[in-house]
Amino acid sequence: MSSAPYTLDRIQPLLEEERRPLPSRIRAYSWLILQLRSATPLPFTCWLGVGVLQGLMVPFQLWASSHLVNAVQTRMDGQDANPWWWALAMASALAGGRLLAPMKNWSEAAIYERGLPAVEGRLLARATEVDLALLEYQAFYEVTRRIAEQADQSLKGVLKAFNELIGNSIPLLGAVLIIAHIDWLLVLALFLPLLPLLAEALRQGGFVWEALHQQTRDRRIAHYIASRFSDRQSAKEIRLFGLADELIGRWETHFMATRKEMRGKVTRASLRLQLGGTFSDIFSYGVLIWVITSGFVETNAADITVLMGAFMTIGNLSFNLQQAILDIGKYSGFASDVRMFLALPAVFATDKVTSLSERLLTPIVLEHVNFTYPGTTTKVIDDLSLTIPPGQTLAIVGENGAGKTTLLKLILGLYRPDSGRILLGDRDIQDIPVAERQALMAAVFQTFSRYPESMIENITMPRNRDDVELNRVIQEADLGHMVEDAPEGLKTILSPDLGGIDLSGGQWQRIAIARAGYRNATILALDEPTAALDPLAEVDIFKRFAQISSDRTTILISHRLGMTRLADRIVVLEHGKITEDGSHNELMRNTAHYAELWEMQSRWYR
Ligand code: ADP
Repeated sequence: MSSAPYTLDRIQPLLEEERRPLPSRIRAYSWLILQLRSATPLPFTCWLGVGVLQGLMVPFQLWASSHLVNAVQTRMDGQDANPWWWALAMASALAGGRLLAPMKNWSEAAIYERGLPAVEGRLLARATEVDLALLEYQAFYEVTRRIAEQADQSLKGVLKAFNELIGNSIPLLGAVLIIAHIDWLLVLALFLPLLPLLAEALRQGGFVWEALHQQTRDRRIAHYIASRFSDRQSAKEIRLFGLADELIGRWETHFMATRKEMRGKVTRASLRLQLGGTFSDIFSYGVLIWVITSGFVETNAADITVLMGAFMTIGNLSFNLQQAILDIGKYSGFASDVRMFLALPAVFATDKVTSLSERLLTPIVLEHVNFTYPGTTTKVIDDLSLTIPPGQTLAIVGENGAGKTTLLKLILGLYRPDSGRILLGDRDIQDIPVAERQALMAAVFQTFSRYPESMIENITMPRNRDDVELNRVIQEADLGHMVEDAPEGLKTILSPDLGGIDLSGGQWQRIAIARAGYRNATILALDEPTAALDPLAEVDIFKRFAQISSDRTTILISHRLGMTRLADRIVVLEHGKITEDGSHNELMRNTAHYAELWEMQSRWYR
């Protein structure tokens, strides 16, 4: 378990496969349709059934109309026939079609409301369950972004294309059967030119997808720049530095890059298909007229009515069918992304059990740990060994880029070492079930999340509210005044975009600390507080944190030394190696480097 399960050479084929032969994409498309069906079985079956029935109405009407013409003709010839029955049959078919429409609307709405969100929810969940190191691979990251950004629209596209496929292919097949009833040769005349056209539509759909695929980066940059214009933080800088023209210019460049290529692909696809369609129509009608006029196939007036109707219907349907197949070609690329994504191992899937005995304080032991970020060559953690006794407050200090945050992420089990082991007690951290790990550890990262939710949600999520615990962390994180001043107390929404309030960097930091404290974990870590804080405010944040984590194992990280006096022990990290290790007093006495750094920085704290 402790070696990386998804190295680049193992993930690459998955990414390649998604770049993929057409048959595998089509299989992925069918698989995705089945996923939608299993998310909402009843509405889906109903929706499909109605689609098929509606499709059958078209050939039924053609068939009934031929009998109607026949009956009218017979009647006009003075013989006995009753056209009324056929007229009634046609009217009933029309009425049936109308009555089915509300059922179709209901089932479609149910799939949109429940089926699509169910699949989207699984995608979101998987995005948080996959190995964090995978996100370091650019190609994988692109897939994740594409899925996250396009899931909603693409899933609708998948469903719509399927709807069009059913809605056009069923009546088309029905019409073909009716023609076959008159003569099989006519079917060949119709189908032979249609088949390559449909295959071409599928291929062109694939090209459109590939164009979208290649544009992920440009589209993302364009989207990012556009979003700056409505972002409160950027609004100040854009105005102050007069950045608007420059940003609009850059947005245009990236936006146009995506549009230009897409326009080319879509125009080419459309031109090829329309030209092909025109040839196919000319050929089919030519054969039809020849067959009728030459007497090659024997036809009467009713046959001719049916044939004309069928050919016209097929002309329209095949046009729509081409578009549906083009869309299937396009969305099958998305489907194979999704299939690949959901097939990845859920390394961070949460299992429910958390036994209390496991929450006892245990030592953390790192044995010869090495780590290099995927896709890079520099060792960020280099043969590092360290034992953190239970309950210790450890400060990890070192220059920016020394590897402190990386070391923390390894200790928390977010990354796996390339070699070496990290043990909690006597167990490798990677072998501990995720739910248990989540219960054992909490951390405040430099870039912690700011949820646009109430203050209370920001602290307690995802646990249940426990007022005693909540009051404790509010006090320890010194949030009391903030809660009192907030218009709706703990219920105040922390997002000015949603009509709530905005907090300063330091206030947010305290919320994040309260969130970590509320989890009641036995290992707590605080990564360098936001750089916007001055050294004294930073020390205050560390103090709050030390208070909240007083009876647990605590790891504090900073490139400043101000907080080291709060720690039982300090390790100095340089280029991924520990160069100094001891208490503040020991290091001051014994190591020139630490003492020198302390002297240099200590004037900040006086
Ligand atoms: P510190 O926390 O001490 O400032 P970090 O652990 O953040 O250092 O980074 C250590 C080194 O690893 C730096 O050289 C940094 O550029 C590199 N690094 C950090 N994150 C990544 C990443 N996701 N991909 C590649 N390199 C990274």
